[in-house]
Amino acid sequence: MGDEARGSRNGPGATGLPEQGRRFEYAPAPESREIVRLRERYDLFVDGRWVEPKTGRTFTTIDPSTEEPLAEVAEAGEEDVDLAVRAAGEAYETRWRDLPGKERAKYLFRIARALQERSREFAVLETLNNGKPIKESRDVDVPLAAAHFFYHAGWADKLEYAFPGRTPRPLGVAAQIVPWNFPLLMCAWKLAPALATGNTAVLKPASTTPLTALLLAEVIEEAELPPGVVNVVTGPGGRTGEYLARHPGVAKVAFTGSTAVGKVLRRALAGSGKRLTLELGGKAANIVFEDAPIDQAIEGIVNGIFFNQGEVCCAGSRLFVQESVAELVTRKLKARLATLRVGDPLDKNTDVGAINNRAQLEKIRELVRSAIEEGAEVYQPPCELPERGFWFPPTLLTNVAMSHRVAREEIFGPVLSILTFRTPAEAVEKANNTEYGLSAGIWTEKGSRILWMAERMKAGVVWANTFNRFDPSSPFGGYKESGFGREGGRHGLEPYLDLEGGAP
Ligand code: NAP
Repeated sequence: MGDEARGSRNGPGATGLPEQGRRFEYAPAPESREIVRLRERYDLFVDGRWVEPKTGRTFTTIDPSTEEPLAEVAEAGEEDVDLAVRAAGEAYETRWRDLPGKERAKYLFRIARALQERSREFAVLETLNNGKPIKESRDVDVPLAAAHFFYHAGWADKLEYAFPGRTPRPLGVAAQIVPWNFPLLMCAWKLAPALATGNTAVLKPASTTPLTALLLAEVIEEAELPPGVVNVVTGPGGRTGEYLARHPGVAKVAFTGSTAVGKVLRRALAGSGKRLTLELGGKAANIVFEDAPIDQAIEGIVNGIFFNQGEVCCAGSRLFVQESVAELVTRKLKARLATLRVGDPLDKNTDVGAINNRAQLEKIRELVRSAIEEGAEVYQPPCELPERGFWFPPTLLTNVAMSHRVAREEIFGPVLSILTFRTPAEAVEKANNTEYGLSAGIWTEKGSRILWMAERMKAGVVWANTFNRFDPSSPFGGYKESGFGREGGRHGLEPYLDLEGGAP
């Protein structure tokens, strides 16, 4: 936070009040925009320095809640990526691979602490660039990002205990490509395990949300990580991202994003010998049995689909309700939806913020239109949406059939489809009837049923009587078209390690 925003103890400050008066004055709320010091232009972070792109080009990044420009960001071309990969390769060979684990841990702890110290700044910047409610970026994204660095710092000097009887060795340079829905958190999910295991990284954030990744680079610079250990390049996925993933100097590619791009990368890297992990899309089922604690389930369902505007890979976008309670659950959901506050993402009371980008908004609109054409009924509580920016109201769809596009395709928006079932077997069959397999939620009082269901769900994560719970110690990842590989926990270290003894 700048001194002015805080009401400086040393200088006259913005109000000109004497020191005594200022101490009792209301300062701007800590989440206010003034905490963030936006640069007009952001360069690339390569080899420990901020460098202009060789392309000479920049692109504009905006606030999706207003469409106002926030900053110009460098567009990395092939030459820039070459330099970043070379810097990461040199850092790997000379400054990082052989550093004792406890030394690597110190850097990770420093990053974690800096994230905590600057958490308000990160939270406001994330909200500005992504459109998510401040209470989510402040209470979920940033603390979890710090927790990932803390957790992985703990592993850095204990890798041999994680894999007893084996000799874990790093792979080399990791290309890490992340999406826009949890811009900072996804960087933490990628960088923390890579660095803890002794790899170096070239990170590419999504083009609509590069700012917190660049602030993280600033933190990494301040933490005095050896130059080249972490490099951040910005630019269009189809060019910068793909060139980076294919680069011969890269040993490992970690990608989080859409299933479509995941498939492109899988094809592009086939036969290359590079390690690949893919965290892709989802179409999660939230399954509510008649004996469920219904009010608790309503909160879980609402969190499952409206948290982060539904722009969550594991969002519970399909609700399966046992027929006997379907009417009750639908009625309670409608009442709960009417209480959600949609609007200014920086307002601490906002529950649903802006959609991140126009293309995503159009995709949501299109899928809802298709649902209506296919016979679904729409419920949207009355709410006034801001005139500018990308907005979509919380939406319930009833009368949805399994064959409808909205029940099959990832919507990545605040739209819940309600479907019904009669028996547990039918619930399993319907929930698994999707090309995705990332997560699921089960709501019932019966412990035996939870176990029976969980064993049969084709999903990487199954929550019972809760939803959207994350912890760095829990592995996260998918089956089928939701990708492969795990992030978090001991399992999340494996994709960054050679455990067979073949790595250079
Ligand atoms: P996206 O379009 O696939 O983009 C993800 C990242 O890949 C961005 O940095 C993008 O850069 C880059 N990219 C695009 N085309 C590329 C290419 N041909 N080669 C290499 N990189 C490329 O996905 P998104 O729309 O940002 O994110 C939403 C998707 O992410 C959803 O499907 C969601 O389910 C998934 N997701 C999954 C998880 C998980 O853990 N499973 C977590 C979060 C999100 P540009 O931004 O420049 O296009």
